[in-house]
Amino acid sequence: MEKRKELYAGKAKSIYTTDDPSKMIMLFRDDTSAFDGEKTAQLNRKGMVNNKFNAAIMTKLADAGIPTHFEALVSDNESLVKNLAMLPVECVVRNRAAGSLVRRLGVKEGETLNPPTYELFLKDDALHDPMVNTSLCVSFGWATEVQLEKMEALTLQVNEVLFALFDAAGMVLVDYKLEFGVFNDQIILGDEFSPDGCRIWDKETNKKMDKDRFRQGLGSVIETYEEVGARLGITFD
Ligand code: UDP
Repeated sequence: MEKRKELYAGKAKSIYTTDDPSKMIMLFRDDTSAFDGEKTAQLNRKGMVNNKFNAAIMTKLADAGIPTHFEALVSDNESLVKNLAMLPVECVVRNRAAGSLVRRLGVKEGETLNPPTYELFLKDDALHDPMVNTSLCVSFGWATEVQLEKMEALTLQVNEVLFALFDAAGMVLVDYKLEFGVFNDQIILGDEFSPDGCRIWDKETNKKMDKDRFRQGLGSVIETYEEVGARLGITFD
């Protein structure tokens, strides 16, 4: 597989074309950002840790029958992925109240949400990723009704698999964000699943083990991501 030109650089990852038009290389950089890019930093080892974390989780999801874009690790900080046509919608599931839900509704952080909630946000930093709904997505052509139904079903299926996985390792999967794309007319899970895009708390102490460590200046960001990985049996060396 030959890596060719950089097609797109996001806030934390860059996408490269390859000699196969159906495959791309996703490079995980050490850059980190929060608050729609307002707070940024370089965190040593982050690209490598998130690349390997994502590879392990995507493999577990594929084993559970969820179609993902992940194909293979190609280096410490690069993965080969399918070339999806991404949909500009973020799918968020919450098992506990935190983050924007607490700010929006004034509910107590940590409140258990049963059944888990499901929300859609438009992927648009300039607009601060506003909350949307299926009606808006369909009318503006961001995704079709059929695609949205599939995305919701897959996002909730991911929750079944990952909530149990984190729970067994002494952690609560509080919430997470997924992004999907289309490949051969199929809805496929794209982007990444890493502590950058979810909230994870220690089950006993409620210690935050995700990007809130960066957002809130709690320190030991990447060391804690590695601790999450170690508890899940993911190795980084
Ligand atoms: N999230 C994300 N990217 C975004 C927005 C949210 O990865 O652009 C993740 C976030 O890390 C959390 C979940 O989605 O795990 C829910 O985020 P929330 O709506 O609470 O917003 P936040 O508090 O992160 O602004």
